[in-house]
Amino acid sequence: MALIVQKYGGTSVGNPDRIKNVAARVAKYHAQGDQVVVVVSAMSGVTDSLIKLAKEIMPLPAEREMDMLLATGEQTTIALTAMALHSLGVNAVSLTGAQAGIVTDGVHTKAKISNITPQKVHQHLDAGNVVIVAGFQGQTIEGQITTLGRGGSDLSAIALAAALKADLCQIYTDVDGVYTADPRIVPAARKLQEVSYDEMLELASLGAKVMQSRSVEFAKKFKVVFEVRSSLNDNPGTIVKEETNSMEGVVVRGVSLDKNQAKVTLVGIPDKPGMAARVFKALGDAAVNVDMIVQNVSHGTGTPATDLSFTMDKPDLLKAKKVIDGLKAELAFREVIANEAIGKLSIVGVGMRSHTGVAGKMFDVLAKEGVNIDMISTSEIKISVVIDLTKGEQAMRAVHAAFIG
Ligand code: ADP
Ligand code: ASP
Ligand code: MG
Repeated sequence: MALIVQKYGGTSVGNPDRIKNVAARVAKYHAQGDQVVVVVSAMSGVTDSLIKLAKEIMPLPAEREMDMLLATGEQTTIALTAMALHSLGVNAVSLTGAQAGIVTDGVHTKAKISNITPQKVHQHLDAGNVVIVAGFQGQTIEGQITTLGRGGSDLSAIALAAALKADLCQIYTDVDGVYTADPRIVPAARKLQEVSYDEMLELASLGAKVMQSRSVEFAKKFKVVFEVRSSLNDNPGTIVKEETNSMEGVVVRGVSLDKNQAKVTLVGIPDKPGMAARVFKALGDAAVNVDMIVQNVSHGTGTPATDLSFTMDKPDLLKAKKVIDGLKAELAFREVIANEAIGKLSIVGVGMRSHTGVAGKMFDVLAKEGVNIDMISTSEIKISVVIDLTKGEQAMRAVHAAFIG
């Protein structure tokens, strides 16, 4: 007998037939004597339409109320999934995040899990039930409902697997596993048998939305081995686990493209000490998460001036522009240019630590494709470039072909 945590994403519970399909799979594990905890997302499209609904009431709704609203999406699915199991004659009970003991901090819309007290889940399991838990949500110690950031059901599942000391953690989705690139963009992408936490973390934070990046961070910290697999077939998926020696043999494990980036350039900012500090302190105070930064060499005559560019997630652009506009009189830059038509293309692999010439090869491929590189950043196991969004997918396919095939 094993304790298994299974997570089913939005598409996997997207309509009544899909929910029945999930129930049938869960029932099979239950019938063979396993204890099963099922974490479900909102049905596909529901979270987006709830957000849209809120924005029709007001553009910047209070985040506490957003959480109250968004949590309803997952609450619908847990009840329907429990009913689908009942109709198969399986004992099942649905629990909200709070009822499952998921305690978070109070940062509404992107709360962090502070601890899980899973006694109730254990009690229901021991009584012979399948336990169905609403993903993406938790509760503060004061009893406020919170959500864990987009894609947060992945985190609910991994955190529950850690807290319950589960024997198996399976993330069921609408693809067969983690691919070398998003198979919707790169038809030649291949399913990976295994991938290390660090590679998965980079791929996820650089645009591969198959796993929420915070959930991978959590899995790494608590050593939760998990499998990403399809809810639509029985094919083996991708195992995400600690790095093994053989993993370094592959230079580039995967390619990802983040289309959700924006760039701001301050043109003609005086090139003197303290300017960058002023800009990034103000952005930090406004909770704008700056990613890449590039400063050009000084130009012009008289007081030297330079251009300073930085990137952030698109939803933060409005906030960033407001901050920068507020600094115009003080910093005396000439103008601000905002560009939302950028993409961040990245290659990721632990093998980069021990191989040279990888960046040169990537830039060469992009040059041959006629793709201009706007910004570059690297770490031990990844190289990212900012390029024109309209060339993003073409560049992704070319880089994938050159490194992976
Ligand atoms: P779920 O609703 O199950 O959480 P998501 O839509 O969040 O599913 O994630 C699955 C999607 O992630 C796939 O349909 C695929 O298009 C996309 N994706 C992006 N990059 C990758 C990748 N490297 N491997 C697999 N899927 C990827
Ligand atoms: N329903 C939430 C979202 O769409 C959480 C999830 O699907 O993981 O982001
Ligand atoms: Mg997801």
